[in-house]
Amino acid sequence: MRAFVIQKHAARLLHYDFRLELEGVLKSWALPRDPSLVAGVRRLGVAGEDHGLDYGGFEGIIPAGSYGAGAVLPWDRGTWEPEGDAVSDYAAGSLTFRLQGTKLTGGWRLVHMKAPAAERHASWLLVKSRDAAARSRSDPDVLDEQPLSVLSGRAIADLRPRMLGADAGHSELGGFGDET
Ligand code: MN
Repeated sequence: MRAFVIQKHAARLLHYDFRLELEGVLKSWALPRDPSLVAGVRRLGVAGEDHGLDYGGFEGIIPAGSYGAGAVLPWDRGTWEPEGDAVSDYAAGSLTFRLQGTKLTGGWRLVHMKAPAAERHASWLLVKSRDAAARSRSDPDVLDEQPLSVLSGRAIADLRPRMLGADAGHSELGGFGDET
């Protein structure tokens, strides 16, 4: 079974880092918004650097002055299972898979957008498939319902009490997506 993790990351901008174990690393996409459980709703995922498998368990503070400075917590963790051949489908830019996490389950797709050559970042779309785990637009947002660390039960604010109200993110001005 392959691991997946979604880390909530309160850098200059709060975002979610979606990571799938593939070929011995965590393939990584930064989601500027939350993953939507509404079937068919597309959420941007900006492909970033691969991370080591150990990083999926990281919860804590990236210190000021370091890239992505701010608090990180594993918002969900579990396993994922591709429907097809994960390596070739990833290379082709279209992954269909199932998640078995604590918060997220069911079918999902990640599709690479064919961006203009001038575009700086590799843009993908994360989309919930239509199944029993999908929600309707009128259902509550899973991010609001279950905001805490799946590892420790802590909130982002619990991790960085001294950073609240401070200038917590000057190091990430280079732009969203450079770090995931
Ligand atoms: Mn990040």
